[in-house]
Amino acid sequence: MFEFANEALTDFSGGPEREKMKDALNHVKGQLGKYYDLVIGGQHVSAEGKIVSRDPSESTQIVGYVAKADRDQAELAMQAALHAFDTWKHTGAEVRARYFFKAAAIMRRRKHEFSAWMCYEAGKTWAEADADVAEAIDFMEFYAREMVRLSDRQPLVRITGEDNDLQYIPLGVGVIIPPWNFPLAILVGMTSAAIVSGNTVIVKPASATPVIAAKFFELLEEVGLPAGVANFLPGSGGEIGDYLVEHPKTRFINFTGSRDVGLRISRLAADVHPGQLWIKRVVAEMGGKDAIVVDNNIDINEAAIAIVNSAFGFGGQKCSACSRAIIHDEIYDQVAARVAELTSALQVGRAYEDGVHVGPVVDQSAYDKILDYIAIGRSEGTLLCGGDKAPGNGYFIMPTVFGDVKTEARISQEEIFGPVLALTRAHSFEEAIALANATEYGLTGAVYSNNRDHLEYARREFHVGNLYFNRKCTGALVGVQPFGGFNMSGTDSKAGGRDYLLLFTQAKVISEKL
Ligand code: NAP
Repeated sequence: MFEFANEALTDFSGGPEREKMKDALNHVKGQLGKYYDLVIGGQHVSAEGKIVSRDPSESTQIVGYVAKADRDQAELAMQAALHAFDTWKHTGAEVRARYFFKAAAIMRRRKHEFSAWMCYEAGKTWAEADADVAEAIDFMEFYAREMVRLSDRQPLVRITGEDNDLQYIPLGVGVIIPPWNFPLAILVGMTSAAIVSGNTVIVKPASATPVIAAKFFELLEEVGLPAGVANFLPGSGGEIGDYLVEHPKTRFINFTGSRDVGLRISRLAADVHPGQLWIKRVVAEMGGKDAIVVDNNIDINEAAIAIVNSAFGFGGQKCSACSRAIIHDEIYDQVAARVAELTSALQVGRAYEDGVHVGPVVDQSAYDKILDYIAIGRSEGTLLCGGDKAPGNGYFIMPTVFGDVKTEARISQEEIFGPVLALTRAHSFEEAIALANATEYGLTGAVYSNNRDHLEYARREFHVGNLYFNRKCTGALVGVQPFGGFNMSGTDSKAGGRDYLLLFTQAKVISEKL
């Protein structure tokens, strides 16, 4: 087994990769509009209802139809997962890991095809889709190695006359509820971590992106994952989501999504139902209102580039996106002008077209919500650029920057999850950090400063799970920057880190007198 190394991102600036990506897009275009079944206990199962997945760049174009499970099918999936757990829990860690090494290898070979699906279904640009696939591969490679490490004999203090052994054993059946914004990477990471740890799962993908999830399930079938270990159950969060969260046989819930849904799951999961033998574990990674703090002594252009990249990569639809820049008053006007200039130069367009910087937002409800926030922003700050829908048959919004926004403004406090950035003035570095902390979230943050004392101050005082100095606040890498946030950003599970699999295992200590 090789050492883990992050998957390289594709250079699309020229050469064969560009042509291969165009071929993959053409191939996927020819596959649009197909129907995908549920997968329960290894069987393909249709459903009366269906989810229609649309291309956000061309909202009349159907990406696919996916069976929409009801509660009876959710129960069947639970029974299938319970049944499979009896054998999967005794399958050796190395054997379990090999399924994911194999899946990662196949995904690597078909990288552009997976990317192309996300260009069509999630409105990801080439580069954003490529990074999503690379992260999915990383998660599988990393967690598979992690499980092998955890299955080794663990270091305990040895005493004479006894053999003491600590083993990490799985929990049971888990419900995996990912968001649509990293529709492959996060789904794959949350699922593979739970399975490689010896659990069986029911995966309820986000309703905006069920087709790319179905593609991952095709891959799991291709590698021969035993029936019932992973069950594919698209459906309404409110209907089957609640049913599964409340089910007495659910052992854990691995959720990534919004604050409100995460809190609801946490509350529902706390109740004990007849036949339930355990306290359910809830891993809930939630929203952000991430800030970049800009000190008075920095390279203005460099900071402005980082702000614009962090704010408008994937149209601001990342939990780590910079939605606030808090800038020292002495250089505020120059930074604001440069940010507005760079933002105005971003090309908005259909995600699969070569050279587009910002694609559409994901669906009609996101579109409406973001435009509402832009209307609110007009009364809370000065519009510096954008501020309107952008042309096209999809959900296009101009990247928008508001200046002189107060920290208590709604656009400074509420997660918009779109291409909207608020700039705020601070009169000292300490005030800037206080303003950065003044939300209920605590996911990512960045500081641009050349003052060592200020960086040390931020290291102590800036209360976020992932803090970056003199670089953008997005783009955490598996294994390099384990990811998760504080406060209402979630349970700080640190996905892609050495602690992550412990969330899906329990430690059993066996002591034998010799
Ligand atoms: P969301 O609306 O909360 O949905 C997330 C998932 O929860 C979806 O699969 C959704 O299904 C499901 N769901 C909805 N209601 C449910 C219920 N009552 N019971 C069980 N499941 C339910 O979030 P989203 O819009 O997909 O994703 C964006 C959010 O995710 C943002 O807040 C973003 O910051 C956050 N996020 C956080 C991280 C992180 O690591 N902290 C990473 C990525 C994204 P349906 O689609 O069927 O409603």
